[in-house]
Amino acid sequence: MSDESTVAPRSRKTLLIRYGEIYLKGQNRSFFMNKMLGQIREAVRPFGGEAWLSDGHIYVGGMSDVDATVKRVQRMFGIHSLSVAAELPKDYAAIIAFAEETARTRAGSFKVKARRSDKRFQPDSQEINRELGHLMLQANPSLRVDVTNPDWTFNVEVRDRVYVYNDIIPGAGGMPRGTNGKACLMLSGGIDSPVAGYMVAKRGASLCAVYFDGFPYTSERAREKVVSLARILTESCGPIRMYAAPFTPVQEAIRGACPEQYTTVLMRRFMVRIAQRIARREKASALITGESVGQVASQTMDSLVCTDAVAEMPVFRPLIGMDKIEIIQRAESIGTYETSILPYEDCCSIFTPKHPVTHPALRAVEAAEGALDVDALTEAAFSGAERLL
Ligand code: ATP
Ligand code: MG
Repeated sequence: MSDESTVAPRSRKTLLIRYGEIYLKGQNRSFFMNKMLGQIREAVRPFGGEAWLSDGHIYVGGMSDVDATVKRVQRMFGIHSLSVAAELPKDYAAIIAFAEETARTRAGSFKVKARRSDKRFQPDSQEINRELGHLMLQANPSLRVDVTNPDWTFNVEVRDRVYVYNDIIPGAGGMPRGTNGKACLMLSGGIDSPVAGYMVAKRGASLCAVYFDGFPYTSERAREKVVSLARILTESCGPIRMYAAPFTPVQEAIRGACPEQYTTVLMRRFMVRIAQRIARREKASALITGESVGQVASQTMDSLVCTDAVAEMPVFRPLIGMDKIEIIQRAESIGTYETSILPYEDCCSIFTPKHPVTHPALRAVEAAEGALDVDALTEAAFSGAERLL
């Protein structure tokens, strides 16, 4: 037994990163792992942290601000959970010393949970659990062991080195950013669309975004609000190229030439046409909207059918089966809610008809649109789109 291990060692803080579905990836696993590792490296660098791969696991160490690093990593897609661990020499006496020191500083009930990926290490997990539990109770007799519902857990993982930690911090889940194509988010200033973008990005898609700008009916502030939302999304979803497409000419043309009750569904068809032009230029292969079936007139199934009739690429609607209250909870947890509820008008609310058709027939919608020069209006909005981010 080395001298070093007979005293509780000055431990280094290391983040243990656990990933979820990458495990399912079979032969492609190293692609996902390397992507993940590169992104973690970049994310922790501002905190002085370094990330490395060892033993099939990703680790982060050397960070100057552990809490800030954890917060940052927690937002990254592809990570199932993480723990802030003390790294110990691979030496049972060192583990014991650390366990006893921990016991003396803690209260309440606990259990020991050991895992060995290095099966050569002795004693085995069951023995470690039993012996450490016993020694920790001796070190602090006010503690209690509770294996079913402990206040805290003393986790010991024997890998290439030994890692000891208390908590398992949930990660954002999903797949690493940029491992699953690119989609164009139709981003309004509302509650729903940022959540929709987040959900698709969480599955590994990169995002670009388009905002349909109702200026001068909507204010500069409305535009700033959408930019703020995109910036919040960027923290998890990575860089988002965002465009504002001038939508007022489309709205005025519809108002001037089409039956009022069709306004909403016609606007939505234009949004899809313009968005997919932008998507193609950005090499995105699908659109994303925040629609949920039945939420408002434009989101009845019949309306969605009429909207999708002009789509030439898949339109992802990840919120389709969610209640508003569930969407709000999501918005709160991803940090977009507070910004979404700022009061600036959306372009659609100004032109919303008093009595929109709730069950439009495609043929009637196409007839209503017949009075417009659809291609010219679409082209003008596309070529007038301005980069915001
Ligand atoms: P949100 O909360 O996302 O604004 P909503 O419940 O207000 O959604 P609608 O206004 O009918 O619903 O819009 C449905 C979807 O169409 C939005 O989720 C968004 O994807 C897209 N959309 C609506 N307005 C705009 C806009 N001004 N710019 C970009 N996309 C928009
Ligand atoms: Mg809206």
